[in-house]
Amino acid sequence: MGNVTEIIKLIANQAKTFNIPYVTALAQDRDPYRVLISCILSLRTKDKVTARVSSNLFRVADDPYVMHKLKLSVLRKLIYPVGFYRNKAKVIRDITTRLVNEYDGRVPHARAELLAFKGVGRKTANLLLGLCFKTPAICVDTHVHRISNRLGWVRTNYVYDTEHALELVVPKCYWIRLNALLVSFGQHVCVPISPYCSCCTVNRFCKKEGIKRCR
Ligand code: SF4
Repeated sequence: MGNVTEIIKLIANQAKTFNIPYVTALAQDRDPYRVLISCILSLRTKDKVTARVSSNLFRVADDPYVMHKLKLSVLRKLIYPVGFYRNKAKVIRDITTRLVNEYDGRVPHARAELLAFKGVGRKTANLLLGLCFKTPAICVDTHVHRISNRLGWVRTNYVYDTEHALELVVPKCYWIRLNALLVSFGQHVCVPISPYCSCCTVNRFCKKEGIKRCR
């Protein structure tokens, strides 16, 4: 395996030419509530759709107290066409209600508290911890899981195992940034099917584990 830091720096350099993921860009405003809601919307949804729907929704309700007053039917209409919009509307409503009733409208910054919200998994919790509260955490989504295994950094079948295996090989100073880098890289270079290995900046370091065909 090549030097992990060197590989991350090379990927970061190549990823500069790509758009950063919507939720990462949104986090620059430091509003954990909007980041949380956009994370929920983004699950199994393309980034462009998440961006459009989130903007539409936040034009109507951008804090928990306003969101809390929206009827479920209105919320459903506002977030259509994200995937699973009916279920996500309910999740957003339930999370918002708890935030208003139990947390004075603020998003908690302890992982255990975040995970206690229905609809919030480790991926969302770690993203929030890192981007909004600057607590080092590796957010492992499908891109991070796939690329880490292809590179040979980890050898895992499940996202949960990948998170812990990555903690052992990735320097802590990169934990927060890793998701945004690998999501961009995974959308444009190390794509799920037939990755573009011929123009990949880390080709010489990559073990290409599980790759049957590349471009
Ligand atoms: Fe992905 Fe291919 Fe680059 Fe390895 S060489 S990181 S498999 S695109």
